Amino acid sequence: MHITARSQNLVRCSTCHQLNHVPDAQAHYACARCGSVVKQRAQPQLQQVWALLLAAMTLYLPANLLPVMNVINLGQGTQSTIISGIIQFLQSGSWILALIIFIASMLIPLLKMLVLAGLLISVQWGYCAGCVEKTKLYRLIEFIGRWSMVDVFVIALLVALVQFGEFAYIQVGAGTLSFAGVVLLTIWATKAFDIRWLWDKCAQQEESTND
Ligand SMILES: [Zn+2]
Repeated sequence: MHITARSQNLVRCSTCHQLNHVPDAQAHYACARCGSVVKQRAQPQLQQVWALLLAAMTLYLPANLLPVMNVINLGQGTQSTIISGIIQFLQSGSWILALIIFIASMLIPLLKMLVLAGLLISVQWGYCAGCVEKTKLYRLIEFIGRWSMVDVFVIALLVALVQFGEFAYIQVGAGTLSFAGVVLLTIWATKAFDIRWLWDKCAQQEESTND
């Protein structure tokens, strides 16, 4: 069905992108063009990705439930969570802002973690249906990772929109730290994952069914 470079014993040089013939998976070869060391990729490090992803998932609850900021005005503190922020915007009729915050702060981080969990499960148990679609999904969450600063932008927007008096100041709440943790750990987990593990697993399965 699908032919991977690895199944043809081809390895791309990470320095100059030359494809090299590497017949022995264990051995190190010198790139035919630039002489850098080329070798076949290592076995999947699924546990590492699971650990990062579960840490991100654990922080998702405090990120949404703990205050992201604490506005102190003349000694009076008002704490806002992401959810209370959304409700406030809805009540004041700014449903577009409520929607932006809901999508950027709650929906997208959750979907990213769920997609990555699905990909990990696929590699672990060898679910090979829809490899092409899964690869596209992976590229999508990798792409979103680069734009995760949108989330930070949302918090900045929240802060800017708060009506505060002359003597007010804003403290960053524990929710913001948890939130940054979710974003960074999800990016890290996505980088630590390699979608080619899925193709390797499915190539192995095809081989064993052909034998
Ligand atoms: Zn090279």
